[in-house]
Amino acid sequence: MPAAKPARNASIPAMRRALLAWFGRNRRPMPWREQVSAYRTVVSELMCQQTQIATAIPYFERWTAKWPDFKDLAQAEEAEVLALWAGLGYYSRARNLLNLAKQVAALKQPPRTAVEWREFKGVGPYTAAAIASIAFAEPVAVVDGNVVRVLARLDGVRAKLRDASSAAKLFAARADELVDPKQPGDFNQAMMELGATVCRKGVPDCAKCPLAEWCDAKQAGDAQALPRFVSKERKEAVVERALVAREGKILLRRNPHHAKRLAGMAEIPVLSSLGVEPAGEPALVRRRTIGTVTYEEKLHALDSKPADIRRWAKDGELEWVDAQALDGAALSGPHRRWLGEWLSRGGRTARGRRP
Ligand code: SF4
Repeated sequence: MPAAKPARNASIPAMRRALLAWFGRNRRPMPWREQVSAYRTVVSELMCQQTQIATAIPYFERWTAKWPDFKDLAQAEEAEVLALWAGLGYYSRARNLLNLAKQVAALKQPPRTAVEWREFKGVGPYTAAAIASIAFAEPVAVVDGNVVRVLARLDGVRAKLRDASSAAKLFAARADELVDPKQPGDFNQAMMELGATVCRKGVPDCAKCPLAEWCDAKQAGDAQALPRFVSKERKEAVVERALVAREGKILLRRNPHHAKRLAGMAEIPVLSSLGVEPAGEPALVRRRTIGTVTYEEKLHALDSKPADIRRWAKDGELEWVDAQALDGAALSGPHRRWLGEWLSRGGRTARGRRP
């Protein structure tokens, strides 16, 4: 744990006041801030775990309009939950949210403490602290990537950090020491907001920072270089997929519910799983990075021959989905986008045929 300097500890009340006053003037409007409840806080925190706030807002509004509280969500079918989540990625969050709603709806009232919220699958220390402090005013600190950056710069922590989760553990005690016991929810949101908008990655805007007078990195002039992380090994991989259309329908693979990734979601089938060989160049080539792996996705447009169609009919995970109904299908964002691009170009196969 980074040691707090005595002089800095004496400044904690002044730091809290400065940060909360700044937040009062600069808080960005967000639908879950305008109307606070345990349910809305849980939904917003799970949605924003790996998603930009601007992307999450329309999803949050559609979600809470359809399922306004835990009891409504508890009645939902997994397929409709996944369909509404489609495009946000990391679909285990949607299934965890549905299971959490079923458990909470069976209780007399929602849990109040971070320790209790940690019991739910998919709720880690950060999310539990956010829910308990924002919805129930428990004085526990939230430590996300933004807070790590602010604290590393504020305290001038220059040691190399292994990864995000070990950094969060390292700064947890310091964050708990700083959190305002009277307004923990606002304080936590203020720290995250400061990291997102002022103490940003790269060059921070120290002239606008309410904590500037207490900041070690600002005085040392090396804020831009903090926090420091050990660099990770990056990998590359190639995935070949099959774009198959027939009579206005698209061939998709529905992952089983016990699948390790994208369980219950549909995706463009991997070429080798269909028992066919590609002919010619792929119709689309797209790159994307998940964690430390960069994937080159080669999407081949295929003719569907009668023998292939008969064989695919025996594969219980394959299904033909109406091309007009892709918006309502539980399909991941990149796959939906690639199909849209391909169809908008006429969905041609290697032989130039249209579906
Ligand atoms: Fe970050 Fe600058 Fe504020 Fe320090 S003074 S916390 S580096 S924005």
